[in-house]
Amino acid sequence: MSNVILQPASGTEPRGHYLDTVETPIQISNIRQYLSSDDLNYLNRVVTNGSVCAWGITPTGVTRWNKIRPGDTVLFARDNHYYSSGTVVGKIHNQTLSKQLWGTNSQGQTWEWMYFFNPPLTINIPYSQLNMAVGYDNYVPQGINVLDGHKAEAALETLYNSSNYASAEDLIEHVDQIQELDAVATSIVRKEQGLLRKKLLGNASMGKCGICSKTYPVQFLIAAHIKKRSECLDVEKADIPAIAMPMCLMGCDALYEKGYLTVIDGRIVIDNTSNPELRNLLNSLEGKSCDYWNNDNSGYFDWHRRNTFNGQ
Ligand SMILES: [Zn+2]
Repeated sequence: MSNVILQPASGTEPRGHYLDTVETPIQISNIRQYLSSDDLNYLNRVVTNGSVCAWGITPTGVTRWNKIRPGDTVLFARDNHYYSSGTVVGKIHNQTLSKQLWGTNSQGQTWEWMYFFNPPLTINIPYSQLNMAVGYDNYVPQGINVLDGHKAEAALETLYNSSNYASAEDLIEHVDQIQELDAVATSIVRKEQGLLRKKLLGNASMGKCGICSKTYPVQFLIAAHIKKRSECLDVEKADIPAIAMPMCLMGCDALYEKGYLTVIDGRIVIDNTSNPELRNLLNSLEGKSCDYWNNDNSGYFDWHRRNTFNGQ
């Protein structure tokens, strides 16, 4: 789940920064002498066409900056509304570059905690509208704020409401930007999936679904996380192959993920549902033995039963 950065840009200095490094994207080739080779390699990797918009915050905001991740959405704020929205592609800490771009403030600080994003789109969301969506009372952004979880979701929903875009083209462009980032994320997810599948299925051309026990060509099986991946500790994600089990795309993966069934002591247990088609499908699976269930992964199935399974 991506975060939403509420970034005020209303004082004299921030307005200047906005003109200098947001309305006028910076060329990576023009700043390379201020970058370490690591930073340069990093920016060349995350910046697609050689130029990118930049924002920076002073050391007082570093704990907020730490929460920023590629794929987050930044909303710039001034004059009682959020007026532009960009998608974060990366971030670096660089005092030299910051001084070069923006100088220092009256306390001698510079905006060295930097993040980068695609040229933002024009939007118009009054503070009151976003406040209502995320559950704030009369909130006026004063310094960076990073929304996560449900608040971020609510803010994004407000943003995606097309009436907040200046035009349909802007909305479409935003969707394109998000899809580009998704493509990068997807290729990384594919690598993990490939590793899990190899450990679970080896080089076999056929494999067995852990839920319905049917044997399918492996292209119809995925290595599904037994415990929801986003809830796994790093050590659990690396607990390969115990953390995952082959499930078929003919519905078992979706039924498991949405909590319509679970595995208790190596047997499929189903939930009640009023939908007759789902009911038939679930009845056909009830009580089947799950051949992949073992002592190494039973704890992950327990987690699923307690946290994902809809039934008792
Ligand atoms: Zn299946």
